[in-house]
Amino acid sequence: MSGERPLEVTIDDRAIEHLLAFTAEQGMHDLLMVSDENTYAALGARVEAALSEAGRDLISVIHTGEEVVADARYIFHTLLAADPKPRTYIAVGSGTVTDITRFVSHRTHSSFISMPTAPSVDGFASIGAPLIIDGVKETVICHAPIAIFADINTLANAPQALIAAGLGDMLGKYTSIADWRLGRLFWGEPYDEEIAQRTLAAVQLCVDNVDAIGADEPEGIRKLLEGLIESGYCMLDFGSSRPASGAEHHYSHLWEMKLLREGRPAILHGAKVGVATVLVAGLYDRIRAMSRNEAADLMEASDWSNADVEMTRIRTAYGDQAEDVMAAHQRFLNLTPEESDAIKRQILAHWDEVQEIAAHVPPPDVVADYLRRAGGPTTVAELGLSDEEQALAEQSGHYLRDRFTVRKLARALDI
Ligand SMILES: [Zn+2]
Repeated sequence: MSGERPLEVTIDDRAIEHLLAFTAEQGMHDLLMVSDENTYAALGARVEAALSEAGRDLISVIHTGEEVVADARYIFHTLLAADPKPRTYIAVGSGTVTDITRFVSHRTHSSFISMPTAPSVDGFASIGAPLIIDGVKETVICHAPIAIFADINTLANAPQALIAAGLGDMLGKYTSIADWRLGRLFWGEPYDEEIAQRTLAAVQLCVDNVDAIGADEPEGIRKLLEGLIESGYCMLDFGSSRPASGAEHHYSHLWEMKLLREGRPAILHGAKVGVATVLVAGLYDRIRAMSRNEAADLMEASDWSNADVEMTRIRTAYGDQAEDVMAAHQRFLNLTPEESDAIKRQILAHWDEVQEIAAHVPPPDVVADYLRRAGGPTTVAELGLSDEEQALAEQSGHYLRDRFTVRKLARALDI
């Protein structure tokens, strides 16, 4: 998943000037701009006017509809607007518009420039495009933008829900890094301490500015986007989403799949991740309060190693999609009783380290307080989800990936 970083990244009040200068330098005369009605009004119209005035050959696609999603329909309409001429794409928007553009530009051998309109996700600088394929979300490997030009005033005027979602996606790094450290200890996952530290520094930058972010102050908003872009770089440099995605993202993925399946409106990625981070932080809290003896007793009684039990749980949680989930989860499902006993012994042998890892995750009320100060939801009820859906994510979200997280630890302990 590793890839090239953008050649140029700016976050200031001269985004359009930077775009004009960069495209002139690079000889990018023929362009195709993708936006939706909201992002066109927020920034796209000005970009279009400036490019036309500069005499560029520009095609502008403005997606319409209640909910613009990165699916076949919107990808098709983007392609339909294009002509056979090679063009550089410009994505004016937040996550969805950027992902549609990332995919179409990549598959047409074009590069793309990102002009984010909201600091809402850490995916701007990444190479993966989460697309909805036959009703299922899948991340398709594409490319990073060749440049990112963010207009600080557009970002600061973005809807508060999108800004708070960006903070939620960042707070998820507290638990994703802790989970990654557990994965290194108990699942042999490749790990890079320098990237872990860089990711945590990016979260810290956002947390230090949380009130400025909540008040939409340009300086706070700039820090948030810097944090999100740095998190994207950590994924690029490490070569996978591991630094930025742990149990909290698995809860979010489970809810997202369920909403799609049931034809319900989507919930912002970062809003789901933020609430899930509060829940996962609660689990780390519980681990912190647990003695080695208590852990030993719990694991003695746990039915974790039984693949039949696990497959029944997966079928109950995922219905039609259960076979795919099981296929992706083979490594865990294939554990022999001896192998899972060995992992349990490892967990006890490293209990002090588990405690140390857990100590670096803020308590759930602190995470919730950060979210609240940024104006974001802190509970599943505020997301519009039920208590049953919370329980489902807690019990079965971890089956979505074959990574070891605190949820896997909780499953081994059967709590
Ligand atoms: Zn995320």
